[in-house]
Amino acid sequence: MSNKYLLERSVKAVWHPCTQMKQHEILPPIPVARGEGVWLYDFDGKRYLDAIGSWWVNLFGHANPYINAAICDQLGRLEHVMLAGFTHEPVVALSERLSNLVSGKLGHCFYSSDGASAIEIALKMSFHYWRNSGYPAKNCFVSLQNGYHGETLGALSVTDVALFKDVYSPLLRRSTQVLTPDWRYRAEGEFPWDYALRAAAALETYLAKHHSETAALIVEPLVQGASGMGMYHSDYLKLAREICDKYQVHLIADEIAVGFGRTGTMFAHEQADIAPDFLCLGKGLSGGYLPLSVTMTKSAVYEAFYHDETALGFLHSHTHAGNALACRAALATLDIFEQNKIIEANRVKASYLSHVAQPIASHPKVKNFRNCGMIWAFEVETEDPAFPGKFFLAALKQELSLRPLGNSVYFMPPYVINNQEMDLLVAGTLRALDSF
Ligand SMILES: *Cc1c(COP(=O)(O)O)cnc(C)c1O
Repeated sequence: MSNKYLLERSVKAVWHPCTQMKQHEILPPIPVARGEGVWLYDFDGKRYLDAIGSWWVNLFGHANPYINAAICDQLGRLEHVMLAGFTHEPVVALSERLSNLVSGKLGHCFYSSDGASAIEIALKMSFHYWRNSGYPAKNCFVSLQNGYHGETLGALSVTDVALFKDVYSPLLRRSTQVLTPDWRYRAEGEFPWDYALRAAAALETYLAKHHSETAALIVEPLVQGASGMGMYHSDYLKLAREICDKYQVHLIADEIAVGFGRTGTMFAHEQADIAPDFLCLGKGLSGGYLPLSVTMTKSAVYEAFYHDETALGFLHSHTHAGNALACRAALATLDIFEQNKIIEANRVKASYLSHVAQPIASHPKVKNFRNCGMIWAFEVETEDPAFPGKFFLAALKQELSLRPLGNSVYFMPPYVINNQEMDLLVAGTLRALDSF
């Protein structure tokens, strides 16, 4: 196999996600032959540091020996069985361990295969809970400005990214967006914490008026990923929890991107010392190995569906829900967190990278350099609308896979990244910045 031969076949046969395919005429996809640790290799042996974790999923490197072994072991036992009417050890063990991780408060795990499906499930469950509880009018959702929750029609309805949403608006159910707490939007001279309070006040104003028709508020805790890694103060979440309780509105925490240590704690909502009513996980759940997602909820929700009447149950399904191979990959991922004390180890790594990245933070073209746990982001000051593609190319020349979101460049590296690789990441990024 050669790079060229694979590319010729790929552009003919594969329609790539989130891509204007015509752009492949000038910017063809990168052929990947294999991965190892933080590195991706093409067929000529050229390598790229996977600095964005293959779209925020990879936690412990490519071809991780421990996860590989777990999947191979599972492969010899059971690859998959449907989860309606059947059950198996990996899905049971995973559900128990996940609910222990959220201190048993969300003890019921409903599985699907990708993040958007986990969101659909949370939205449907929330609405159906209120309906089963005698409040059928609570059938609307509120989300944050610039929020991102996936691209199926229900998830897209609560997403606020014009480029992904506007074309499909005739197909979408309307939802409401309230002021984002992302501190980049604060007023001049306003502190991020004061701005978070102001955003929470806007949420309260909205819910005071509309709680009787609102089923849930959905948020990305601490970091709004697709809007360019917008970060906000944890007190917003604390207040949002109080406001939702006051007005009887569910709080859905979409931790598909920020779960599993990304923000420095296992789950981002821990930093606000709150429990959501629904927690959606995906991406890193399986270490980024296999499509797996879960919607976790509390007993009060579960019990509202528990009934002699079939139609009061939650009759939603995805064929591959709780796939045994994917659950084993997830269990192996949780083993690594425990055995290698990853949350603590990441603190050391994060402070190293934040330290060596100071020249990026003070670069004349760079604005808003920020960090939360194992996420770093900054804006590049440029008027060039072609910046994302150009920066992507400039980074590739430096052996880096970096795919900016608009003018926002971010790092979301696998947690196995070592100091030398962090040095390469910073040096390459600086050279890519200087090439403009
Ligand atoms: C990626 C993402 C989703 C959607 O997950 P998919 O697996 O791509 O469907 C939803 N919410 C957030 C916050 C995400 O980052």
